[in-house]
Amino acid sequence: MGVRPPRGRRVSARRAAAAFREVHGAMPDGVWAAPGRVNLIGEYTDFNDGLVMPLALPHRTWAAASPRTDGRLRLHSAAAPGGVVELRTADLAPGAVRGWAAYPAGVAWALREAGHTTGGADLHIESDVPVGSGLSSSAALEVATALALTELHGPALPPDRLARLAQHAENAFVGVPCGIMDQTAAACCAEGHALHLDTRDLSRRHVPFAPDPEGLRLLVVDTRVRHDLGDGAYARRRADCEKGARALGVPSLRDIAYGQLPDALEALADEPVVRALVRHVVTENERVARVAALLVAGDLRAIGPVLSAGHASLRDDVAVSCAELDLAVAVANGAGALGARMTGGGFGGSAVVLAEAAGADAVAEALTGAFASVGHRPPHVFPVRPAAGARREL
Ligand code: ADP
Ligand code: MG
Repeated sequence: MGVRPPRGRRVSARRAAAAFREVHGAMPDGVWAAPGRVNLIGEYTDFNDGLVMPLALPHRTWAAASPRTDGRLRLHSAAAPGGVVELRTADLAPGAVRGWAAYPAGVAWALREAGHTTGGADLHIESDVPVGSGLSSSAALEVATALALTELHGPALPPDRLARLAQHAENAFVGVPCGIMDQTAAACCAEGHALHLDTRDLSRRHVPFAPDPEGLRLLVVDTRVRHDLGDGAYARRRADCEKGARALGVPSLRDIAYGQLPDALEALADEPVVRALVRHVVTENERVARVAALLVAGDLRAIGPVLSAGHASLRDDVAVSCAELDLAVAVANGAGALGARMTGGGFGGSAVVLAEAAGADAVAEALTGAFASVGHRPPHVFPVRPAAGARREL
């Protein structure tokens, strides 16, 4: 829908404040920011009460904001054409707002529904999170807005509460049936750490993950493709996972322990699609636990093969990869990476690669060359360091 952060434009909280003044006529009361995220491991597990392990990107979305006393929301984003979107908070209802403004408006609605004071506000959004690349620009926008609106109008809320409100906004107001991972990552991550999140009880712990001091690089490969199968395919996989849990007599696939997998697979011998999904979910939860243990032990290099095994499982058992993601993973590994996998929902978007720092340029060059040789646009390849979660910046 044409939302695209201007590439190469330097963004910061100060720049967001200055742009706010141009749009709204005065400096903002504050500037709040929330990061995009990349999921290190734990895909298609969050709607099975399972384990995930995202980390926050250095890329962020800034919400510069001031309160209004007339109950109006005046929303503006540097990335969206069409100028200021003006709404009355009293009129907010699911389905009432279309386009990008549904995300911040949905957050205001979710806050009001949950009984938090929300008056009107002027908002200006700046971002350098790639939009629609599987790096969760939507959650960054929601969480930055949620933080801004709560701190403008009342006491600060705990980050996991903000995450749930943001997820509710995306599910019920925007109409996207996402899990809780993206918003929790944006709200709760810590610099130099990945977030080990249990989506069943929402318990979480910060697991140290700082590749650079270990002579490693974590690369994000944005394939810049997005195949249009995403929504229906996601819903179908979700329904099939529920079917698997019912067939196995458990509340969710989380309840199948790794040791029970052979029996579960045997019980599903006549249901090949469901069977493959069960195999993915159970082994993927095991991979998250394994990566967490390796990171706690400081054995960063050893997570590489686990990432690659996760990719094979998403490709073969969940069938949500695509030619470009498979190419990125194969080429990265062929060029000496320690491991690689698609990340996010699939059908395009991004892959994540762990490489030796000394070999990272060779991996990036191999990726560019391989994409060119099959006629794709060059991917965007960039190194990332696990960054902090949402916070006030001005
Ligand atoms: P992803 O979260 O993977 O980037 P989504 O499709 O979930 O992709 O969310 C992208 C949508 O979020 C955009 O189409 C737009 O509506 C909204 N959005 C994200 N970032 C911004 C921004 N900086 N300004 C305006 N809208 C944004
Ligand atoms: Mg999103």
